[in-house]
Formats: sequence, structure tokens, C-alpha cells
Amino acid sequence: MEINSEKYGGLCVCGHEHYMKTKLCVIESGALNKFEEYMETVGAKGKRCAVYGTNSSAIEYLPKPFAEQTVIMNSEGLHADEKSTAILLEKMDEDVEVIIAVGSGTIHDICRYCAAQRKISFISVPTAASCDGFCSAVAAMTWYGYKSTVNAVAPTLVVADLDVISRAPIKLTRSGVGDMLGKFIALSDWKIAHEVTGEEVCPVIYGIMEKALKDVWDNSLEVLNGDVTAYEQITYGLLMSGLAMQMLGSSRPASGAEHHISHLIETRPEALNVNSQAMHGEKVGVGTVLAAKEYHRLAETENISEYVCEFEALDDGWIREFFGDRLYDMAKKENANDCLSGVRAADIVKAWSEIRRIIADIPQSDEIYEKLNALGADKELADIEVPNEYESIIVSASPVIRNRLTLMRMKRMIKL
Ligand SMILES: [Zn+2]
Ligand SMILES: [Zn+2]
Repeated sequence: MEINSEKYGGLCVCGHEHYMKTKLCVIESGALNKFEEYMETVGAKGKRCAVYGTNSSAIEYLPKPFAEQTVIMNSEGLHADEKSTAILLEKMDEDVEVIIAVGSGTIHDICRYCAAQRKISFISVPTAASCDGFCSAVAAMTWYGYKSTVNAVAPTLVVADLDVISRAPIKLTRSGVGDMLGKFIALSDWKIAHEVTGEEVCPVIYGIMEKALKDVWDNSLEVLNGDVTAYEQITYGLLMSGLAMQMLGSSRPASGAEHHISHLIETRPEALNVNSQAMHGEKVGVGTVLAAKEYHRLAETENISEYVCEFEALDDGWIREFFGDRLYDMAKKENANDCLSGVRAADIVKAWSEIRRIIADIPQSDEIYEKLNALGADKELADIEVPNEYESIIVSASPVIRNRLTLMRMKRMIKL
């Protein structure tokens, strides 16, 4: 299948004009054999630098796209950070006009950041359906140990060859499914925010993501039988997540309380002794199980009025104690204009019956757990090297990592 930006651009029924920087995504078996054709279609011209990890470079069944220069990064301990980007910027010839990322999410983040630095275009060749970041316009970077998202370059073209993607190590696909299942929470948080504050929901973007999620939910186990359609659906959902973010100009359709759980673990607050080496989507999958459990628990209460209190700012002493000196400034800055401060207790009470209906559409956490388990994926904190007894503190503290209105953040005003 092909996703063409022309079909998605322009004035939408939501009243806004959406714009997609990625001109074309191709998700097909044998797509890399037609790489030159697609490059011409999107008008990508000039000297190319193809960037691989040692892992993607070693894939025997990968048809390698033509490039004048090739850079291979050491996949061992590779992160999108100040070191790897400095290496690539130094190695890449001065006159390169197109960077082609061939490999994982990390290689993509390094390349999209360097493409922004050089003000050149960026082409994506994912070798596995492992994460939702391929089409993103921002890069998830770690600067001197701090996680941050940096404005970068969205790919002009994505060539996702299903012959390659369906042969990737299953661990990578499991991670991609975990990242996709997170959309149950992300989409619900979007609708819940709409009910409470009137935040706009674009029905077109919501509908695209909802359909993509349903396909992955229904069919993802088929990857265990090598079913190419299942791989296509997962890849489509992951690419569409990035495209939806481009169209909305925000990560709202793809990221909610479940991603905040993943980000909190990655940030390693001082009060928690955690150092998870799990992949992004593996952490999001576990975050989805935890968020679904908490949301369904809250929804058990039909009449919420006696449990809701007015907004109170986060306690400064708690922020310092929980995050520690290293992360205090970051956490403080992120929550300086707390999006929850505009919410009144009465808003939550008024929206509650609708919130309960939205939560009813999220599968029970046991079902999500079982789906991940059947796939052989991580499904609880212990699987991602985090003690299970941290569950309640991680669930409660996770919204502090990102100033976005989720039900998990509203929980500060709900004493249940
Ligand atoms: Zn994600
Ligand atoms: Zn719209």
C-alpha cells in the first residue's frame, strides 16, 4: 500500500488545514527494488549518504539503496545522543544533500537530527516494525543523560519493504505492537480531554488511528505465523502515528498516559532504582497494561462527585525528593504552567459519565496483558527490569513527566 500526502492534505471537516511533510510512504513486499522510482516521485535529488547500524548493515536479505557515501554506526550501545550525532556529522561529506536512514528507530533519530543540522532532506528505510517514530518530525534525543525531544526533519519518503520487515527479529515487532496498543490509552486521553476542557478532536485523524489500532489488535498475533498482512497493518499503524502527529502538529493522537509511564522509567527519577534496557515499544506496552488497569478501576465508580477536589499545584518538596537534584529543574519547568490548573472539580463531575463510556471501549488490562503475553512480549514491570512494587508510584507520578491533560493527570483531583 501507499500513503500519499496529497490525499491527506488540505481543509478538513474539523475546520483546520492539515499538512503532511512526508510526501509518500510505501509499505509493500519488494518496495526497496523500486527505491529509485520512489526517489524520483518525491523529487529527492543530490548526493546521498546512507546510514546503517552494524545490525542493519549485516542484514543479508536487505536490498541496499544506492548511495554515494555509506556510514555504518556501531549498534552496540548506540543511542541518539551528543556522541553519535557528532560522529555522523563529522563522517558525513560536506556536500551530502540527502540522508537515508536504514535501520531502527535510533538510527532514524540520529539521522533526522543531523538532517536538521545540515538543513538537508531525510529518507527513511525502516528494517523492522519496531516503533512509532519513523515518520516523526521530532527526534527523541538524550543530551548528556537528559531525555528531550528536539525539532528535526520528517522523512520526505518512507520505503518500508515488507520482505525485510517480516523477517526482522520478533523482539522488534513485539515492541512495535506494544507501541501501537498504547493508542488505546492515547486516543482515550484525547477524547477525555475534549470532554473536560473542550480540546479539539479531529474526527478524521482520530478515525484513521482508531481503525489502524483495531487492525493491529485483531490481527497482530498472526505475525507468529509469518503473515505479511499482519506486518503490513502494524507497519501502517506505526507510520500513520507519525503522520497523524504531522497533520495535527502535536503528538496527541499517538501519546498519552502510557507513553508518560515509559518516559518516566527512561528518565530514571532518583526515588526509583530503575535502569531498564527495554525498547521504547516494550515499555509503552507495559505502560498500556498499567494505564488500562487504572482507568478501568476509576471507571468502576459511577458517582464521582464526593471524590473530586479542586486543583492544587504539585508540591515542590515532593518534586525534588522524587526526581532528585539532577531532574528537578526539568520537572519543575515542565509543570510550570500545569494544564490541570484550568480544570475545575465540576468539569470532571459533569464529564464523568462520558469518561466512563470512553473507558468502557478500552480493552480490560487483562486482555491487553494476554495479547502481549501470547506474542511473547513484555507485559509487566518486572519484564522490563522494574520492580512490580513500583507500580502505584509509577502510575501516579508518570503524568508529571509531560504537561499534557490525561485522565492520569486528572487523578490528582480524584481521590479514589
Ligand atoms: Zn511510541
Ligand atoms: Zn481534521
